[in-house]
Amino acid sequence: MKQPIYLDYAATTPADPAVVKAMMECLGAEGHFGNPASRSHRFGWQAEELVDIARNQVADLIGADPREIIWTSGATESDNLAIKGIAEANGKGHIITSAFEHKAVLDCCVYLENKGFQVTYLKPSANGFISAQQVESAIQNDTILITIMMVNNELGSIQPIAEIGEVASKNNILFHVDAAQAAGKIPIDLNTLKVDFMSFSAHKIYAPKGMGVLYARINQQPNITAQIHGGGHERGLRSGTLATHQIVGMGLAFEIARKELQANDQHVFECKQLFMQGVCDIKGISVNAGIEGHKTTEKMVAGIINLQFEGVDSEMLIMAFKDLAISSGSACTSASVEPSYVLKTLGLSDLASHSSLRFSFGRFTTMDEVKTAIEVVKNGYQRLKELSVN
Ligand SMILES: *Cc1c(COP(=O)(O)O)cnc(C)c1O
Repeated sequence: MKQPIYLDYAATTPADPAVVKAMMECLGAEGHFGNPASRSHRFGWQAEELVDIARNQVADLIGADPREIIWTSGATESDNLAIKGIAEANGKGHIITSAFEHKAVLDCCVYLENKGFQVTYLKPSANGFISAQQVESAIQNDTILITIMMVNNELGSIQPIAEIGEVASKNNILFHVDAAQAAGKIPIDLNTLKVDFMSFSAHKIYAPKGMGVLYARINQQPNITAQIHGGGHERGLRSGTLATHQIVGMGLAFEIARKELQANDQHVFECKQLFMQGVCDIKGISVNAGIEGHKTTEKMVAGIINLQFEGVDSEMLIMAFKDLAISSGSACTSASVEPSYVLKTLGLSDLASHSSLRFSFGRFTTMDEVKTAIEVVKNGYQRLKELSVN
Protein backbone atom coordinates (compact mmCIF):
# COMPACT_ATOMS: atom_id res chain seq x y z
CA MET A 1 0.00 0.00 0.00
CA LYS A 2 1.23 3.47 -0.85
CA GLN A 3 2.30 5.51 2.18
CA PRO A 4 0.54 8.83 2.65
CA ILE A 5 2.60 12.01 2.34
CA TYR A 6 3.98 12.87 5.76
CA LEU A 7 2.91 16.39 6.74
CA ASP A 8 2.99 15.94 10.50
CA TYR A 9 6.55 17.00 11.38
CA ALA A 10 5.25 18.88 14.42
CA ALA A 11 4.07 15.57 15.90
CA THR A 12 7.38 13.87 15.33
CA THR A 13 10.21 13.67 12.79
CA PRO A 14 12.05 10.68 11.37
CA ALA A 15 15.62 10.43 12.62
CA ASP A 16 18.21 11.78 10.19
CA PRO A 17 20.11 8.91 8.48
CA ALA A 18 23.39 10.13 10.00
CA VAL A 19 21.74 10.06 13.42
CA VAL A 20 20.53 6.48 12.91
CA LYS A 21 24.02 5.39 11.91
CA ALA A 22 25.70 7.07 14.88
CA MET A 23 23.20 5.51 17.27
CA MET A 24 23.68 2.01 15.89
CA GLU A 25 27.38 2.30 16.67
CA CYS A 26 26.60 2.58 20.36
CA LEU A 27 24.56 -0.57 20.76
CA GLY A 28 26.29 -3.86 19.99
CA ALA A 29 29.31 -5.63 21.40
CA GLU A 30 31.46 -4.13 18.62
CA GLY A 31 30.24 -0.64 19.46
CA HIS A 32 30.42 1.84 22.32
CA PHE A 33 27.95 0.06 24.56
CA GLY A 34 29.72 0.80 27.86
CA ASN A 35 28.10 2.51 30.80
CA PRO A 36 29.24 6.15 30.71
CA ALA A 37 29.41 6.05 34.51
CA SER A 38 31.87 3.11 34.57
CA ARG A 39 35.13 4.68 35.68
CA SER A 40 37.31 1.58 35.82
CA HIS A 41 37.64 0.55 32.17
CA ARG A 42 37.86 1.72 28.61
CA PHE A 43 34.25 0.78 27.68
CA GLY A 44 33.01 3.32 30.20
CA TRP A 45 35.54 5.98 29.22
CA GLN A 46 34.63 5.71 25.53
CA ALA A 47 30.93 6.04 26.24
CA GLU A 48 31.58 8.96 28.57
CA GLU A 49 33.56 10.71 25.86
CA LEU A 50 30.68 10.31 23.40
CA VAL A 51 28.27 11.73 25.97
CA ASP A 52 30.58 14.71 26.46
CA ILE A 53 30.72 15.37 22.74
CA ALA A 54 26.92 15.24 22.54
CA ARG A 55 26.58 17.57 25.54
CA ASN A 56 28.73 20.10 23.69
CA GLN A 57 26.77 19.64 20.46
CA VAL A 58 23.49 20.40 22.23
CA ALA A 59 25.02 23.32 24.16
CA ASP A 60 26.45 24.82 20.94
CA LEU A 61 23.08 25.10 19.20
CA ILE A 62 21.54 27.04 22.09
CA GLY A 63 24.42 29.12 23.45
CA ALA A 64 24.76 27.15 26.67
CA ASP A 65 27.58 25.76 28.79
CA PRO A 66 27.78 21.93 28.61
CA ARG A 67 27.38 21.78 32.41
CA GLU A 68 23.92 23.26 31.91
CA ILE A 69 22.66 20.32 29.83
CA ILE A 70 20.66 17.74 31.84
CA TRP A 71 19.70 14.61 29.88
CA THR A 72 16.09 13.47 30.31
CA SER A 73 13.65 11.11 28.58
CA GLY A 74 11.95 13.87 26.57
CA ALA A 75 10.47 17.34 26.75
CA THR A 76 7.63 16.00 28.91
CA GLU A 77 10.10 14.96 31.59
CA SER A 78 12.07 18.20 31.19
CA ASP A 79 8.88 20.22 31.74
CA ASN A 80 8.02 18.09 34.80
CA LEU A 81 11.53 18.47 36.25
CA ALA A 82 11.59 22.24 35.79
CA ILE A 83 8.05 23.04 36.92
CA LYS A 84 7.61 20.54 39.75
CA GLY A 85 11.28 20.89 40.69
CA ILE A 86 10.94 24.66 41.15
CA ALA A 87 7.58 24.31 42.91
CA GLU A 88 8.92 21.72 45.31
CA ALA A 89 12.01 23.79 46.08
CA ASN A 90 9.72 26.69 47.01
CA GLY A 91 7.00 24.75 48.85
CA LYS A 92 4.27 27.22 47.91
CA GLY A 93 3.58 30.16 45.63
CA HIS A 94 2.10 31.42 42.39
CA ILE A 95 2.90 30.30 38.83
CA ILE A 96 2.23 32.14 35.57
CA THR A 97 1.73 30.15 32.37
CA SER A 98 -0.42 30.36 29.23
CA ALA A 99 -3.62 28.54 28.41
CA PHE A 100 -2.18 27.12 25.17
CA GLU A 101 0.92 25.40 26.55
CA HIS A 102 1.58 21.75 25.75
CA LYS A 103 -0.19 19.29 28.06
CA ALA A 104 3.17 18.45 29.64
CA VAL A 105 3.18 21.96 31.12
CA LEU A 106 -0.56 22.33 31.73
CA ASP A 107 -0.92 19.00 33.50
CA CYS A 108 2.02 19.82 35.80
CA CYS A 109 0.28 23.10 36.67
CA VAL A 110 -3.03 21.37 37.40
CA TYR A 111 -1.19 18.84 39.57
CA LEU A 112 0.45 21.69 41.49
CA GLU A 113 -2.87 23.51 41.90
CA ASN A 114 -4.13 20.40 43.67
CA LYS A 115 -1.08 20.64 45.94
CA GLY A 116 -1.97 24.18 46.97
CA PHE A 117 -0.07 26.27 44.41
CA GLN A 118 -1.90 29.05 42.58
CA VAL A 119 -1.69 29.22 38.79
CA THR A 120 -2.60 32.00 36.32
CA TYR A 121 -3.32 30.78 32.77
CA LEU A 122 -2.82 33.72 30.40
CA LYS A 123 -5.10 33.85 27.37
CA PRO A 124 -3.30 34.32 24.04
CA SER A 125 -4.40 36.96 21.53
CA ALA A 126 -6.67 35.87 18.67
CA ASN A 127 -3.65 35.55 16.40
CA GLY A 128 -1.74 33.34 18.81
CA PHE A 129 0.55 35.40 21.02
CA ILE A 130 1.20 36.07 24.70
CA SER A 131 2.67 39.50 25.43
CA ALA A 132 5.32 40.47 27.97
CA GLN A 133 2.90 43.09 29.33
CA GLN A 134 0.33 40.38 30.02
CA VAL A 135 2.94 38.41 31.94
CA GLU A 136 4.04 41.49 33.87
CA SER A 137 0.50 42.38 34.96
CA ALA A 138 -0.05 38.84 36.27
CA ILE A 139 2.93 38.97 38.64
CA GLN A 140 2.13 38.76 42.36
CA ASN A 141 4.32 39.11 45.44
CA ASP A 142 4.49 35.33 45.72
CA THR A 143 5.11 34.47 42.04
CA ILE A 144 7.84 31.82 41.91
CA LEU A 145 7.80 30.79 38.26
CA ILE A 146 6.86 31.95 34.78
CA THR A 147 6.58 29.17 32.19
CA ILE A 148 5.79 30.10 28.58
CA MET A 149 6.49 28.07 25.45
CA MET A 150 8.77 29.40 22.69
CA VAL A 151 6.79 28.08 19.69
CA ASN A 152 3.23 26.83 19.94
CA ASN A 153 3.01 23.28 18.59
CA GLU A 154 -0.43 23.62 16.96
CA LEU A 155 -0.11 27.13 15.55
CA GLY A 156 3.59 27.77 14.99
CA SER A 157 3.43 31.21 16.64
CA ILE A 158 6.72 32.38 18.19
CA GLN A 159 6.31 33.91 21.64
CA PRO A 160 8.31 36.99 22.74
CA ILE A 161 10.68 35.04 24.99
CA ALA A 162 13.36 37.76 25.08
CA GLU A 163 10.87 40.37 26.35
CA ILE A 164 9.26 37.99 28.85
CA GLY A 165 12.76 37.09 30.08
CA GLU A 166 13.43 40.77 30.80
CA VAL A 167 10.22 40.95 32.83
CA ALA A 168 11.08 37.77 34.76
CA SER A 169 14.61 38.85 35.49
CA LYS A 170 13.62 42.39 36.53
CA ASN A 171 11.18 40.87 39.01
CA ASN A 172 13.56 38.14 40.18
CA ILE A 173 11.27 35.31 39.09
CA LEU A 174 12.49 32.04 37.59
CA PHE A 175 11.63 31.63 33.91
CA HIS A 176 11.13 28.25 32.22
CA VAL A 177 10.55 27.88 28.47
CA ASP A 178 9.30 24.81 26.60
CA ALA A 179 11.33 25.05 23.39
CA ALA A 180 10.50 21.61 21.96
CA GLN A 181 9.10 23.18 18.77
CA ALA A 182 11.75 25.90 18.51
CA ALA A 183 15.05 24.01 18.43
CA GLY A 184 16.37 23.68 14.90
CA LYS A 185 13.65 25.97 13.54
CA ILE A 186 14.65 29.37 14.93
CA PRO A 187 17.91 30.59 16.53
CA ILE A 188 18.12 30.21 20.31
CA ASP A 189 20.88 32.00 22.22
CA LEU A 190 20.84 31.45 25.96
CA ASN A 191 23.79 33.84 26.31
CA THR A 192 21.41 36.69 25.61
CA LEU A 193 17.98 35.27 26.56
CA LYS A 194 17.13 35.72 30.23
CA VAL A 195 15.81 32.19 30.56
CA ASP A 196 16.70 29.97 33.53
CA PHE A 197 15.34 26.61 32.34
CA MET A 198 14.50 25.38 28.84
CA SER A 199 13.02 22.05 27.68
CA PHE A 200 13.99 20.20 24.51
CA SER A 201 12.88 17.01 22.79
CA ALA A 202 15.03 14.90 20.47
CA HIS A 203 12.24 13.58 18.27
CA LYS A 204 11.09 16.99 17.05
CA ILE A 205 14.55 17.63 15.61
CA TYR A 206 15.34 14.43 13.61
CA ALA A 207 16.54 12.29 16.52
CA PRO A 208 14.74 9.45 18.34
CA LYS A 209 11.75 9.53 20.64
CA GLY A 210 12.31 8.96 24.37
CA MET A 211 15.12 11.49 24.67
CA GLY A 212 15.27 15.09 25.82
CA VAL A 213 17.23 17.78 27.61
CA LEU A 214 16.54 20.27 30.33
CA TYR A 215 18.79 23.30 30.06
CA ALA A 216 19.35 24.51 33.63
CA ARG A 217 21.30 27.76 34.06
CA ILE A 218 24.31 26.96 36.20
CA ASN A 219 23.60 29.42 39.03
CA GLN A 220 19.92 28.36 39.18
CA GLN A 221 20.55 24.63 39.52
CA PRO A 222 20.31 24.76 43.33
CA ASN A 223 16.78 26.18 42.87
CA ILE A 224 15.22 22.98 41.56
CA THR A 225 14.60 19.69 43.30
CA ALA A 226 15.28 16.42 41.46
CA GLN A 227 12.21 14.40 40.55
CA ILE A 228 13.99 11.08 39.87
CA HIS A 229 16.43 9.79 42.48
CA GLY A 230 19.07 7.08 42.43
CA GLY A 231 22.77 7.41 41.76
CA GLY A 232 23.01 11.18 41.50
CA HIS A 233 23.68 11.38 37.76
CA GLU A 234 23.45 14.70 35.94
CA ARG A 235 24.68 16.88 38.81
CA GLY A 236 22.15 15.20 41.10
CA LEU A 237 19.24 16.53 39.05
CA ARG A 238 18.29 13.40 37.11
CA SER A 239 19.45 9.94 38.08
CA GLY A 240 19.53 6.92 35.80
CA THR A 241 22.13 5.30 33.56
CA LEU A 242 22.74 7.57 30.60
CA ALA A 243 21.32 6.19 27.34
CA THR A 244 24.47 6.60 25.26
CA HIS A 245 22.84 5.79 21.90
CA GLN A 246 19.94 8.20 22.48
CA ILE A 247 22.29 10.92 23.69
CA VAL A 248 24.64 10.48 20.73
CA GLY A 249 21.64 10.71 18.40
CA MET A 250 20.33 13.86 20.01
CA GLY A 251 23.76 15.48 20.04
CA LEU A 252 24.36 14.83 16.35
CA ALA A 253 20.86 16.04 15.46
CA PHE A 254 21.58 19.32 17.27
CA GLU A 255 24.87 19.70 15.42
CA ILE A 256 23.18 19.07 12.06
CA ALA A 257 20.46 21.54 13.02
CA ARG A 258 23.07 24.18 13.86
CA LYS A 259 24.88 23.77 10.55
CA GLU A 260 21.69 23.62 8.49
CA LEU A 261 19.45 25.99 10.40
CA GLN A 262 19.23 28.58 7.63
CA ALA A 263 19.07 26.16 4.72
CA ASN A 264 16.46 24.09 6.51
CA ASP A 265 14.37 27.15 7.37
CA GLN A 266 14.57 28.34 3.76
CA HIS A 267 13.49 24.95 2.43
CA VAL A 268 10.58 24.61 4.82
CA PHE A 269 9.55 28.22 4.14
CA GLU A 270 9.43 27.49 0.40
CA CYS A 271 7.27 24.41 1.04
CA LYS A 272 4.87 26.47 3.10
CA GLN A 273 4.76 29.34 0.57
CA LEU A 274 3.92 26.95 -2.24
CA PHE A 275 1.27 25.24 -0.16
CA MET A 276 -0.30 28.54 0.91
CA GLN A 277 -0.41 29.83 -2.65
CA GLY A 278 -2.12 26.63 -3.66
CA VAL A 279 -4.82 26.44 -1.02
CA CYS A 280 -5.46 29.90 0.39
CA ASP A 281 -7.46 31.15 -2.59
CA ILE A 282 -9.94 28.34 -2.17
CA LYS A 283 -13.18 29.73 -0.82
CA GLY A 284 -13.84 28.61 2.76
CA ILE A 285 -10.21 27.96 3.71
CA SER A 286 -8.58 30.37 6.14
CA VAL A 287 -5.50 30.45 8.35
CA ASN A 288 -5.80 30.17 12.13
CA ALA A 289 -3.32 32.42 13.99
CA GLY A 290 -0.45 34.54 12.80
CA ILE A 291 -2.58 36.87 10.73
CA GLU A 292 -2.59 40.61 11.25
CA GLY A 293 -4.82 42.63 8.96
CA HIS A 294 -4.98 39.84 6.35
CA LYS A 295 -1.18 39.58 6.27
CA THR A 296 0.86 36.76 7.76
CA THR A 297 3.11 38.08 10.53
CA GLU A 298 6.77 37.15 10.63
CA LYS A 299 6.39 35.77 14.11
CA MET A 300 5.59 32.27 12.88
CA VAL A 301 7.87 29.29 12.30
CA ALA A 302 7.95 28.21 8.69
CA GLY A 303 7.02 24.60 9.23
CA ILE A 304 3.59 24.76 10.89
CA ILE A 305 0.32 25.99 9.47
CA ASN A 306 -3.14 25.60 10.97
CA LEU A 307 -6.04 25.88 8.51
CA GLN A 308 -9.75 26.17 8.99
CA PHE A 309 -12.12 24.59 6.46
CA GLU A 310 -15.46 26.29 6.74
CA GLY A 311 -18.46 24.02 7.05
CA VAL A 312 -16.64 20.69 7.25
CA ASP A 313 -15.67 18.54 10.21
CA SER A 314 -11.98 17.70 10.69
CA GLU A 315 -12.74 13.95 11.01
CA MET A 316 -14.33 14.10 7.54
CA LEU A 317 -11.41 16.13 6.23
CA ILE A 318 -8.86 13.63 7.52
CA MET A 319 -10.78 10.88 5.69
CA ALA A 320 -11.02 12.94 2.50
CA PHE A 321 -7.30 13.73 2.76
CA LYS A 322 -6.32 10.13 3.44
CA ASP A 323 -3.31 10.47 1.12
CA LEU A 324 -1.87 12.96 3.60
CA ALA A 325 -0.60 12.21 7.10
CA ILE A 326 -1.86 15.26 9.03
CA SER A 327 -3.58 15.90 12.33
CA SER A 328 -6.33 17.89 13.93
CA GLY A 329 -4.60 19.49 16.87
CA SER A 330 -1.63 17.91 18.57
CA ALA A 331 -0.89 14.20 18.51
CA CYS A 332 -0.98 14.11 22.29
CA THR A 333 -4.64 15.07 22.41
CA SER A 334 -5.88 13.69 19.08
CA ALA A 335 -7.06 10.51 20.83
CA SER A 336 -9.96 12.58 22.11
CA VAL A 337 -12.81 13.96 19.99
CA GLU A 338 -12.80 17.21 21.96
CA PRO A 339 -12.00 20.21 19.77
CA SER A 340 -8.47 21.53 20.18
CA TYR A 341 -8.11 23.51 23.43
CA VAL A 342 -5.38 25.53 21.77
CA LEU A 343 -7.72 26.82 19.05
CA LYS A 344 -10.43 27.48 21.63
CA THR A 345 -8.06 29.73 23.61
CA LEU A 346 -7.82 31.91 20.48
CA GLY A 347 -11.56 32.43 20.73
CA LEU A 348 -12.57 29.98 17.99
CA SER A 349 -15.96 28.34 18.43
CA ASP A 350 -16.24 24.56 18.93
CA LEU A 351 -17.45 24.35 15.36
CA ALA A 352 -14.52 26.34 13.94
CA SER A 353 -11.99 24.37 16.04
CA HIS A 354 -13.61 21.17 14.81
CA SER A 355 -13.08 22.29 11.19
CA SER A 356 -9.35 22.89 11.59
CA LEU A 357 -6.27 20.90 10.68
CA ARG A 358 -2.55 21.31 11.26
CA PHE A 359 -0.13 20.81 8.37
CA SER A 360 3.57 20.69 9.23
CA PHE A 361 6.53 20.50 6.87
CA GLY A 362 10.11 19.40 7.46
CA ARG A 363 13.56 18.61 6.20
CA PHE A 364 12.44 15.70 4.02
CA THR A 365 9.34 17.31 2.50
CA THR A 366 9.68 17.68 -1.28
CA MET A 367 8.08 20.24 -3.59
CA ASP A 368 6.39 17.38 -5.43
CA GLU A 369 4.82 16.25 -2.18
CA VAL A 370 3.57 19.77 -1.57
CA LYS A 371 2.07 19.93 -5.07
CA THR A 372 0.28 16.63 -4.52
CA ALA A 373 -0.93 17.84 -1.13
CA ILE A 374 -2.44 20.94 -2.74
CA GLU A 375 -4.41 18.80 -5.19
CA VAL A 376 -5.61 16.47 -2.44
CA VAL A 377 -6.78 19.41 -0.32
CA LYS A 378 -8.46 21.21 -3.24
CA ASN A 379 -10.32 18.17 -4.53
CA GLY A 380 -11.14 16.68 -1.14
CA TYR A 381 -12.53 19.90 0.29
CA GLN A 382 -14.50 20.66 -2.87
CA ARG A 383 -16.11 17.20 -2.73
CA LEU A 384 -17.06 17.55 0.92
CA LYS A 385 -18.54 20.97 0.37
CA GLU A 386 -20.71 19.65 -2.47
CA LEU A 387 -21.86 16.76 -0.27
CA SER A 388 -22.79 19.09 2.57
CA VAL A 389 -24.97 21.30 0.35
CA ASN A 390 -26.94 18.34 -1.00
C1 LIG B 1 6.34 17.29 21.56
C2 LIG B 1 6.28 18.35 22.60
C3 LIG B 1 6.47 18.05 23.95
C4 LIG B 1 6.68 16.63 24.45
O1 LIG B 1 7.93 16.14 24.10
P1 LIG B 1 8.26 14.59 24.30
O2 LIG B 1 9.73 14.51 24.01
O3 LIG B 1 7.42 13.85 23.32
O4 LIG B 1 7.94 14.26 25.72
C5 LIG B 1 6.41 19.08 24.85
N1 LIG B 1 6.18 20.34 24.47
C6 LIG B 1 5.99 20.67 23.18
C7 LIG B 1 5.75 22.09 22.81
C8 LIG B 1 6.02 19.69 22.20
O5 LIG B 1 5.80 20.01 20.93
